[in-house]
Amino acid sequence: MEKPTSGKITFAGTEITALNRSDLRLMRTQIQMIFQDPISSLNPRRRVRDIVAEPLNIWKIGTDKERHDKVNAMLESVGIDPYVAGGRYPREFSGGQCQRISIARALVLEPRLLVCDEIVSALDVSVQAQILNLLADLKSEHKLTLFFIAHDLAVVKNVSDRVAVMYLGRLCEIAPSDVLYKAPAHHYTEALLSSAVEPNPVVTRTPVILPGEPPSPINPPSGCRFRTRCPRAEARCAQEVPELREIAPSHQVACHFPVGT
Ligand code: SF4
Repeated sequence: MEKPTSGKITFAGTEITALNRSDLRLMRTQIQMIFQDPISSLNPRRRVRDIVAEPLNIWKIGTDKERHDKVNAMLESVGIDPYVAGGRYPREFSGGQCQRISIARALVLEPRLLVCDEIVSALDVSVQAQILNLLADLKSEHKLTLFFIAHDLAVVKNVSDRVAVMYLGRLCEIAPSDVLYKAPAHHYTEALLSSAVEPNPVVTRTPVILPGEPPSPINPPSGCRFRTRCPRAEARCAQEVPELREIAPSHQVACHFPVGT
């Protein structure tokens, strides 16, 4: 949606920032999105069946009967009864049910990539678990790749194969989920993980307390953006932007002096 100022975005081997308008539009059918607020992301004036059918109608996929059957199957696969819910409006459903309807809408075009932007943060904890379990089932059933954006570390650990940590708009660290949670290499990741609530009362750990406040993203610090709060910062950190580099297979970190060095 945003015009890139630099860099490139490659999806399934295709550089998508170089595509023309119609090819890009076609490519978007492969990349669908689920939004943070399940209620406001559904049109309140449209019935559930019409909301889920809309992508199929826009792309004129199948006959009326085929679209009808597809919408029914999609709603059933997310645990919504199409015969009860199809004719109702979003306001008649809870947040968790609306998120299920959003997932059905996102999957109806059979995308390959699903962008999930904070999709459970507005839901109760028990409903969060239901939605996450549903996504895990759909992921294997539809062979999906999920791009999951979240602040909740427990949720991220639960759903991710690979995790990328950002600070002030820059990537700090990328690693397989189990590696990152066990042995973070960036000082921000270490502090972030140490601040998460530990559900086991027997386990004790010392939190890493960061000094100060996060700087303004409009005027970030020179060099490493984390340097004003990093316990390991040195003069080099103010002069040189640390680039992401591989410190182990599939483990990249943007730090001049990673944890443990
Ligand atoms: S580059 Fe320097 S300031 Fe940034 S995280 Fe690493 S040690 Fe800390």
